[in-house]
Amino acid sequence: MDLWYTENHQNDTKFSIQVSEHIHTEKSEFQEIDFFKSKTFGTFFTLDGLMMVTEKDEFIYHDMIVHVPMAVNPDVKKVLIIGGGDGGTAREVLRYSSVEKVDMVEIDERVVRLCQKYLQQTACKLDNDVRLKMYFEDGLKFVQECADNSYDLILVDSTDPIGPGEGLFTYAFYNNCKRILTKNGILINQHESPYYESYAHEMRRSSKKIRETFPIAKVYQFHMPTYPSGHWLFGFASKELDPIVDLKADKWNSLGLKTKYYNTNLHVGSFMLPTYVIEMLEDTANV
Ligand code: SAM
Repeated sequence: MDLWYTENHQNDTKFSIQVSEHIHTEKSEFQEIDFFKSKTFGTFFTLDGLMMVTEKDEFIYHDMIVHVPMAVNPDVKKVLIIGGGDGGTAREVLRYSSVEKVDMVEIDERVVRLCQKYLQQTACKLDNDVRLKMYFEDGLKFVQECADNSYDLILVDSTDPIGPGEGLFTYAFYNNCKRILTKNGILINQHESPYYESYAHEMRRSSKKIRETFPIAKVYQFHMPTYPSGHWLFGFASKELDPIVDLKADKWNSLGLKTKYYNTNLHVGSFMLPTYVIEMLEDTANV
């Protein structure tokens, strides 16, 4: 049988992976969840038909969401993860012995439970580290109720701004993140892609709001083979720390953490954006 997973990257552009097995499908309270097996990408899962995580390329996303801010402030102790139900972000954060507490707020408990069943590669640290506490609720509501100065690092590992992820791309959310971050705090957010028009529009909207909220707001890029166009971005925002000027390369390298994608030279390079992306970010008209 010839079975394929196909995602529309645009109305006239599709991306497909040959599938050896459709392992699981269900509609949770929030979204449609599917797990597949494939030869090239291993096990992968989708939410509402959009690719989330594959065993083959998840290291790129999770290295870049976690190690970039950790190399700017290796003294981070209190971390908040919003979304990230597959567990890959928590797995990387928990590699730092200096981290004392990780709160993970995932709206959909079913994503976590299914990843624990089918995707141990990312979910492997979700039930065996006392520093991690999981909350199954909306991240937007969670940050509203947090006390000032609660976290040194907030990682927004969310879906796109359609459906349950929508509130995580609003001024209300970013303002609360700023309020609950400590003086040296850093916010990293899933920042969409500059390449296809619909994603680029969301990228510009998110970027503008973050720049209006935080004194330091930059964007960095990475290569994600299974996401639309393969070119993806994270946003870096903080009150005081600049991602390049304040990079603690020697300190981070002295930790001896083995990573497959991230290194401190790539860290600097990832903030050097292509001209068309710089121009898009500068052009705030019609956003
Ligand atoms: N790496 C992925 C990407 O960018 O496509 C994201 C992975 S992670 C699975 C995204 C998670 O965000 C999902 O499990 C989803 O349930 C969760 N999520 C979406 N909206 C949320 C919200 N408002 N609060 C908390 N979690 C949310």
